[in-house]
Amino acid sequence: MLCYPLVTRAEGAMEHQEGGCLCGQCRYLVTAPPLRVTTCHCRFCQQTTGSGYMIEPIFTHDSFSLIRGTPKTWSQLSEGSGKHLWLHFCSDCGGRLYLTFERFDQIVGVFAGSFDQPDWFDITPENSKHIYLSEARRGTIIPPQIETYARHVTDREGIPRPATIFDQPRRL
Ligand SMILES: [Zn+2]
Ligand SMILES: [Zn+2]
Repeated sequence: MLCYPLVTRAEGAMEHQEGGCLCGQCRYLVTAPPLRVTTCHCRFCQQTTGSGYMIEPIFTHDSFSLIRGTPKTWSQLSEGSGKHLWLHFCSDCGGRLYLTFERFDQIVGVFAGSFDQPDWFDITPENSKHIYLSEARRGTIIPPQIETYARHVTDREGIPRPATIFDQPRRL
């Protein structure tokens, strides 16, 4: 019986994760594990993170809610899809929180580093892929055994493109 509270605490930790911006004015909550995790190397993700790529766990709107603040929104026309996406960030501290999409209106893509515990979800070959390798920074190391794509996973019509899986770590 002693281990029972430990089990429920571990399950509770996975079901309820919070994150937010640097100053704490904007806070959000997720209540389920990510559907999948996209690591995107496109120029938009480079510019919006100010870094090499974005790690983007994807959630349904049902499992994501804003619990404090009103993030500012920037609308961007995606070159890949020709549709809009919206970047939600704190207008005070500039902390990036999440993306929403005209093309995929049932999902939210969270900036992984904005979680209070950014390591709470796993990134595995089963749940993740690397996309937009065509725009990745030179010298980026891509892990083996994971689906990769030169651009998006599907074309503009939603037709899946073939994946490339490397046997060994690949230096771009
Ligand atoms: Zn803030
Ligand atoms: Zn991207």
